[in-house]
Amino acid sequence: MGGNEQQLGGPDFAAGIAASQLHDGDKMLGHAFGDAVLMARLGDEYVAIGATCTHYGGPLAEGVIEDGTVRCPWHHACFSLRTGEALRAPALSPVACYEVERRGDTVVVTRKVERDPLAPSYPVKTDAPSVKRVAIVGAGAAGWAAAEMLRRSGYRDRIAVIDREPDSPYDRPNLSKDYLAGNAPEEWIPLRPADFAKEHDIDVVRARVTRIDVAGKKVEIEGKDPIAYDALLLATGAEPIHLPIDGADLPHVHVLRSLADSRAIVAASEKSKRAVVIGGSFIGLETAASLRARNVEVRVVAPESVPLEKVMGHELGAFIKQLHESHGVVFHLGRKPQRIERDAVVLDDGTRLEADLVVMGVGVKPRLELAEQAGLTMDRGVSVNECLETSAPGVYAAGDIARWPDPHSGEKIRVEHWVVAERMGQTAARNMLGARERFDQVPFFWSAHYDVSINYVGHAEKWDRLEVNGSAEQKDVAVRFEQGGKLLALATIFRDQESLDAEIEMESTEQAAPAKSAG
Ligand code: FAD
Repeated sequence: MGGNEQQLGGPDFAAGIAASQLHDGDKMLGHAFGDAVLMARLGDEYVAIGATCTHYGGPLAEGVIEDGTVRCPWHHACFSLRTGEALRAPALSPVACYEVERRGDTVVVTRKVERDPLAPSYPVKTDAPSVKRVAIVGAGAAGWAAAEMLRRSGYRDRIAVIDREPDSPYDRPNLSKDYLAGNAPEEWIPLRPADFAKEHDIDVVRARVTRIDVAGKKVEIEGKDPIAYDALLLATGAEPIHLPIDGADLPHVHVLRSLADSRAIVAASEKSKRAVVIGGSFIGLETAASLRARNVEVRVVAPESVPLEKVMGHELGAFIKQLHESHGVVFHLGRKPQRIERDAVVLDDGTRLEADLVVMGVGVKPRLELAEQAGLTMDRGVSVNECLETSAPGVYAAGDIARWPDPHSGEKIRVEHWVVAERMGQTAARNMLGARERFDQVPFFWSAHYDVSINYVGHAEKWDRLEVNGSAEQKDVAVRFEQGGKLLALATIFRDQESLDAEIEMESTEQAAPAKSAG
């Protein structure tokens, strides 16, 4: 995860600033001891933390202060202003924390606070001594964030994370964006350095889980001994849908979920002149943008007339289409592929699109086999309660597979968002230790196309009013999705502060009949 550099600007806080320069709730960017530092005033208290988000290097000084925290404008990570602790994913690591002293009319940053990276920084207040063995199936967004949170919460006993992939955990969203475009080096992709798991005593088992024995509290693993657990997290994610058409299994046809998939597309793109992307999904379109960055001709085939309209509304969908066209992508909308040949994709109207590379981006389906076989209650996903526990006590589910009672929409929802999966994993981890925290965070996702990033906060499957403020063409827009006068979601381009404000507004509203309290 790269890009953690920020130019030093503003005053030198180590030399001090006038206390009157900050009013209650104000923040200021400066520096101290060679680091970018954010100073803020909370009532009469002055606090200072690192100014650069530990996720992608977002500028925290351009974020929003709320209740003793600052939220990153880019992907809504959240840090404690008093300790620097990463309170919300996608940031997994804290920012630095500095001591601030008031000397008469001046406030001075006096030193950087030393931190023990292995000390529990976010302890769970409970006595749940019965959990001594935690098993986590899947080292993706949810599973890995859960493993780290167990340690941050003060859990000292066994953690086994079982994943069938050789590379996990890694930055999956990057696989269709900068990494695929050739703009992110390989070093940015792992979520953690190679020795991190060992240092934190997290046992990563590289194998496929074949069965969960809920009665015997065991995870059965291909080619290995079963692993017994006291608490289990299922975080198996989703897998790409393969269209059942002739030629779908030809070697030049790819899907994109894993690092191996992305590497295979990179390798194929190096020899490719013409690609066809099947599907106008976020992943399909991000892939189209990345292939254009590699100078491959790209055609996108999709059944809808405006891509992403169902999720983003007409205005943003039409803008995204035009944005891709301005970069040379040719759309074949209202069309489906009928078959794939060695050198072409043939559409349902007989059009033949020459292609030496085909990427299917037609959506995913959650990996539910283990949960189904274990007899867990299903509801178009694994059904979990407000604490993310499944119908089997001690068995939790998080991420793309889990459907949870969302107190903001009042619906049981399942989403496929990176940040949501990580936050669910973190909440599930703390609840395994007895915290009984309700998962009540407002969903957030982003999608990047060329130099445009779309941020989407909230959740709207349908709406009765859509309000467009600003202009998508000018790359300065906020689209509000409302139902019955209530804000359900907000999609923005280059309006990060508005996106954070909407998140805070949505957090304060819950449906009249929310999911029952975690008690
Ligand atoms: P995953 O991250 O998929 O992890 C599941 C893990 O479980 C995998 O490592 C898998 O190998 C393992 N596993 C599954 N079954 C077994 C088994 N039986 N035994 C052992 N291991 C198993 N979301 C956004 O919000 N913004 C974005 O920009 C964005 N971009 C994306 C780009 C791409 C290319 C992709 C594929 C997804 C993107 N997403 C994005 C979606 C986001 O990555 C997912 O929502 C998120 O990864 C879900 O997390 P998860 O933990 O549920 O599953």
